[in-house]
This record gives sequence, C-alpha cells and structure tokens, in this order.
Amino acid sequence: MILIPKRWRMMPVVIAAGMTSVLVVGCASPTASDGEEQLSPILATTSIWADITSEVLCGEAVPSLIPIGSDPHTWEPSMATRADVDASLAIITNGLGLESGLDDIFDSARANGIQVVELTAVVELLPTLAAHEGDQSEDEHSEDEHSHSESGLDPHIWLDPQRVIDTIPTIVEMAIESGFDRNEIEVCGEEYSNSLRELDTEINNLFESLTDSDRTIVTNHDSLGYFADRYDLTVIGTVLPSTDTSTEANAADLAALADLITSSEVTTIFTDSESSDTDSQALAERLDINVVPLLTSSLTSGSESGRSYIELMRTNANAIHSALQHSGQP
Ligand SMILES: [Zn+2]
Repeated sequence: MILIPKRWRMMPVVIAAGMTSVLVVGCASPTASDGEEQLSPILATTSIWADITSEVLCGEAVPSLIPIGSDPHTWEPSMATRADVDASLAIITNGLGLESGLDDIFDSARANGIQVVELTAVVELLPTLAAHEGDQSEDEHSEDEHSHSESGLDPHIWLDPQRVIDTIPTIVEMAIESGFDRNEIEVCGEEYSNSLRELDTEINNLFESLTDSDRTIVTNHDSLGYFADRYDLTVIGTVLPSTDTSTEANAADLAALADLITSSEVTTIFTDSESSDTDSQALAERLDINVVPLLTSSLTSGSESGRSYIELMRTNANAIHSALQHSGQP
C-alpha cells in the first residue's frame, strides 16, 4: 500500500471491484489531515522495469514482483504474488515469455480490470539468434519446429536504452490512466528519456575505441541481441541455445561453439549474474578463456553498482568494453 501523492489526480475513478475491499480492509486509516488516501500500487515484474517505471512516475515507489537477484525466466510466483497483483492498479510487464510463470495470474488480473501493460508490444523487436540463423538456412527448419519455440523473437529489450526510451510514452499513458497528473508525469518521462539519451551517448563513446575485430561476443544465454544491435557488436554464439535460461546446452552445440570461439579468437564468455553459468564456466576453463558476469536481468542490492537501471547499464558496458578491448587480433 502506498499513499496517494499530490501528483495523483483526485480519482473519480472506477477502482476495480476486487480492490475495493483491499482498500477498506487493508488500510487502517487514510490520513485525513492532508487529504491523502491510501491506494494500491503500480507494480512491475522485474526490478529493472520497476526502477524505470519509478523514474517515469517522478520517483514514486514501484515494487517488483520478481525479487532482486532472481532470474525472471525461471522464477515461480507464490500465493502472495497473486494477492499483490490482485491488489494493484496496474502492472508493467516485459512480455514475450520472459515472465511466463506469471501468465495465469495476469490473465485473471486482466479479467478483474487491472491494466497489464506489455512493453515488448510497443518496440521494434529482433529475432533470437536461433531464429536469425534459422532464416539463413531456412530449409533446415520446418514451421512446426519454430512454432513451439515461442515467437522466435528476443524478449531482452531493456538492454538497449533507446528501446527503453521508446517504452516511456506507454508507461506515461498507463500512469495517466491510473490517475497520475498528466503534466507532471510527462515532465518526469521527458527528463528520464534525456538521462537515457545521455547514457546511450556515453556507451557509444566508450565503445568507439573498439576495433572491428574486438566486436565479436559469446554469451551464456541469448540475452545481448539488442545491446549488440545498438552498439555494433556481433553475437556469434551462446552456450545455452535460447533466449531462455531454462534450456540446456547440448554436447554437439558446445563442441561447435568451442571451435567457433577458437577460430574467432574470442577471449571471453559473458554470463548472467542471476542464473547458472556452469556450462559457460566449464567451456571457458577448457578453452582457457575468461568468464565475465553481467547484470542481464536484475538490479542488485547493497553497495554493488547495479542499483538502478542506468547504473546497471553503465556497469555492463564497462565490463564488456574492458573485456573486448584489444581482444581481437589485428
Ligand atoms: Zn534472459
């Protein structure tokens, strides 16, 4: 429960029927003195989208359903998650199968009139590496093989700041529909967009020093497609053959990847801090190359340098840049 701040309009609205009892029962006493009432919050699925949404909402608290440090691909909700969702006003989600554990809960939330906003629906999407390679040898894959591997589209849009900027008008509209003041939220949305443009410029400038031969990367799962697209890197392979960390590496693919790493003179495998990197570690050890963990799907807590989306992107960019610098042979 949060207090309605001044930037919320007075709400003539239409609070979802299911929430009314929560408002009455759950909140002991609305603070009458300053006219504020208590209201259920806007939520986000991941800690990264929660931070981005909070910035657009002028610093309003936005809890994440998936805790910091958890892998959204494999995280499973509890009964408490369902209660949190039922008591919310709106939920910012990534979509495209990232939070597949929450699909049922979101279906019933929609039925209860809660706004469930999917941000992958409002940006330009890229194919997964597997789908992209499939396109290049299209005779090898039947339509059936493609249809069960989700959409063939990569969900990791947040790793490109420009695509995050593209989601901001949607977050602003969600906020206005939820009762926030349009003028204030539009100003905060624009200020945050400017901060993300500065971040994007900073990463571009950082990567300027990389030569063409430095720009080849291998990752644990297929997570850096948008980052690579934005900053002119090429993902030549992944240890797990999917955008989903719950898939497993197979021996034949790993042998082929090992050959590719050696022939391309790749010196690093970029892994995910919030999910298992056992296969990547084993492969790196065998090939005597480095493993560099990135913050791909969650903020960090404590004193680490990933407590906000902007910090996370800066940390990842610096880690990638220092691993790639002079990695390729001239
Ligand atoms: Zn992922």
